[in-house]
Amino acid sequence: MNYQCTRNSAEHVSAAQAIAQGISEDGGLFVPESLPQYDSSVLEGMKDGTYLDRAERILGDFLTDFTPEEIRECVKKAYGGEKFSGGHPAPLVELPNCPAPVHLLELWHGPTCAFKDMALQLLPHLLTKSLQKIHSDKTAVILVATSGDTGKAALEGFRDVAGTKIMVFYPQNGVSAMQKTQMTTQEGENVAVCAIEGNFDDAQTGVKRIFTDPAMKETLAENGMMFSSANSINWGRLLPQIVYYFSAYSDLLKAGKVQLGQEINIVVPTGNFGNILAAYYAKKMGLPVHKLICASNANNVLTEFLRTGVYDRNRQFFTTISPSMDILVSSNLERLLYDLTGRDSERVAGWMQQLSETGRYEVEPEILKQLQEIFYAGFCDDAQTCGAIHEIYNMSHYVCDTHTAVAIQVYRHYLAETQDTKTPTVVASTANPYKFATSVLLSVDQTKASGDDLANVRALEALTGAPIPQPIAALEGKPVRFTQCCTPDGMSDMVLSGLGIAKE
Ligand SMILES: *Cc1c(COP(=O)(O)O)cnc(C)c1O
Repeated sequence: MNYQCTRNSAEHVSAAQAIAQGISEDGGLFVPESLPQYDSSVLEGMKDGTYLDRAERILGDFLTDFTPEEIRECVKKAYGGEKFSGGHPAPLVELPNCPAPVHLLELWHGPTCAFKDMALQLLPHLLTKSLQKIHSDKTAVILVATSGDTGKAALEGFRDVAGTKIMVFYPQNGVSAMQKTQMTTQEGENVAVCAIEGNFDDAQTGVKRIFTDPAMKETLAENGMMFSSANSINWGRLLPQIVYYFSAYSDLLKAGKVQLGQEINIVVPTGNFGNILAAYYAKKMGLPVHKLICASNANNVLTEFLRTGVYDRNRQFFTTISPSMDILVSSNLERLLYDLTGRDSERVAGWMQQLSETGRYEVEPEILKQLQEIFYAGFCDDAQTCGAIHEIYNMSHYVCDTHTAVAIQVYRHYLAETQDTKTPTVVASTANPYKFATSVLLSVDQTKASGDDLANVRALEALTGAPIPQPIAALEGKPVRFTQCCTPDGMSDMVLSGLGIAKE
């Protein structure tokens, strides 16, 4: 199977090339030429397999230039060892006492306690193999823009992986104290972390600019290096996310919670549109999905887009308690639009150009109609997010993080609006609550919170009895290794100096 570029459908590359390169030279994103189709016999067949079996099957259908042995090895390294606690990388937990059947898909059992681990524990292995396949002996320089969780998960995934270096940029005031501590204390010989004076969009725009800057590319090549990406613009990030939606359905089938072919809803707390796009691909591949529910925080640019067809980033940017969703330019929407237009790269390129020039574009009624059929979109503010955490804890004794709470709150709006209490619903639970301990504790019982994140971790444990994940407990007393900060314009220089390349 080959991959096309969303801004130039004449471009065709192998899976290895798409993963190694991360993003097309014209700034477009790689997408598979076609999607494998899974009928009910395939779904039935996956039911009894392990997570690893399910991942092998799905990856194998997309990465046809990898041998089955190579895929098995990558999958085993990512999900087979001790990296994911509890034996199942993506278990389902039913939320008791709900007006409708709700299952939380816990995607945060990996080493950094956010769902990004699901892809970033696998990507380094796929990338290393991809580089071999395209006969590159260059060192892959992974540049990452993060709103908090990708950075840490990428650092942990790539640390000390031979033939790679990684540099992460995060918004100085746009991540939680815990996220910052996780990143600035990162261990490893090939890692670097830098704050930027700006928000996530500034970081992401800066990284995209560096990727597509011919002079930077040449400078790296002269030094035996090439850029690659670990953001969800890389196909190797999205593909592993398709797996867990099929896995969730298989687990529901196995537990007798759905009948073969019965539709489910999937609710996803959304930022860069990567996670929900993976669910969309799963639906197109044959997963029985009724609605994809796109949940946003106060940065509700996607809610407006999915409801009106107008994408407009010219609005106030809010820093919220669900910082991994504080995004106004959702990169992966481009892949959705490419698909919905019947792979019309000219139209997509036009919209993306309007977006970069004016910050706005509008899709035609025929596209909007498709969006509304597939998606339900909603948002909530911080007060509602806190309220949801509080109520879920009281109702079900389940402690959820701020991002998952946004999803549950928007699902409640959906229930109120549609009365759809029959369709079993899977909510992507994207972070462990201890990762956002202060906000979660304030929501559960504000009298117990102090100004210190790690103290709040202990207070939350004392209050709820939810176990503290080992990687978070281990942060206490870890030395800070990275204190650099730069402006968005200074990012290129920071990359070059981080790589030890003198400026010409
Ligand atoms: C990254 C992230 C999201 C948003 O996911 P996208 O794929 O960017 O839409 C939601 N919740 C958490 C905890 C995250 O880390």
